Amino acid sequence: MSAEAGVGYLILAALFGLLFGSFLNVCIYRLPRDVSVVLPRSFCPECGAGIRWRDNIPLLSYVVLRGRCRDCGKGIGIRYPLVELAVAVLWVLAIYRYGWTIAGWKWAVFEAIMVALFWTDLEERLLPDEFTLGGALAGLVFAFFVMVPGAAGELLLPERTPVVRSLVNAGLAAFFLAGPVWFIGFAYSHLRKKEGLGMGDVKLLLLLGVFLGLEDGLLALLIGAVAGSILGLIYVRAMHKDAASYELPFGSFLCAGGALVPLLIKI
Ligand SMILES: [Zn+2]
Repeated sequence: MSAEAGVGYLILAALFGLLFGSFLNVCIYRLPRDVSVVLPRSFCPECGAGIRWRDNIPLLSYVVLRGRCRDCGKGIGIRYPLVELAVAVLWVLAIYRYGWTIAGWKWAVFEAIMVALFWTDLEERLLPDEFTLGGALAGLVFAFFVMVPGAAGELLLPERTPVVRSLVNAGLAAFFLAGPVWFIGFAYSHLRKKEGLGMGDVKLLLLLGVFLGLEDGLLALLIGAVAGSILGLIYVRAMHKDAASYELPFGSFLCAGGALVPLLIKI
């Protein structure tokens, strides 16, 4: 058992994770469609019927309803229970690893954003600004309280306070992770007169940098790029897709890499 968090806190993290995952499902569906995440209340995307509160209980309702809408009988996407379960599990792991502390909640917030962006990119090939830029802003606030690691801050500003070094590390990481990808996309679109890498990916890298710092952000990028290349190739071959026109959900792989890093290594 980790010294940082007792079992009670882990159970609480799981329950909060299920509830937040349920809200995140609403955001994943609505943000790419520019619909408010507050109003209207939850509805079935197939028939539009309002969801009763007892049919809106994370995981449990999906099992009780056997994955079908009570009104129209159409299937509820498997994404709904998967997101709820994923956020619950990732929050337990984050709190287990970093304790019921600001650091623990920094990584819980980060994991939830990774889950959300993983799905919006997979389903819509979109990385909404609310998650990428909003997330980067949240990461910047956390950088005041939890040290963003990086050799740059230690080497350049050894005499400064930890907060200054943390903010410098976050800023440099965001610049060096997002900058080159932005430049490649910019040059590509000028040379070929069509869009290469999307701005969504650039903003996602900004987010990764602010949370992870440069070294660990590069590790996330490496994991995402390698996994994306291998799995993308297998998928294109197996499904007989056209490799030239198939758009790989690169952001989803980046998010998977990002989600793994703070759980694999202690930051
Ligand atoms: Zn329905």
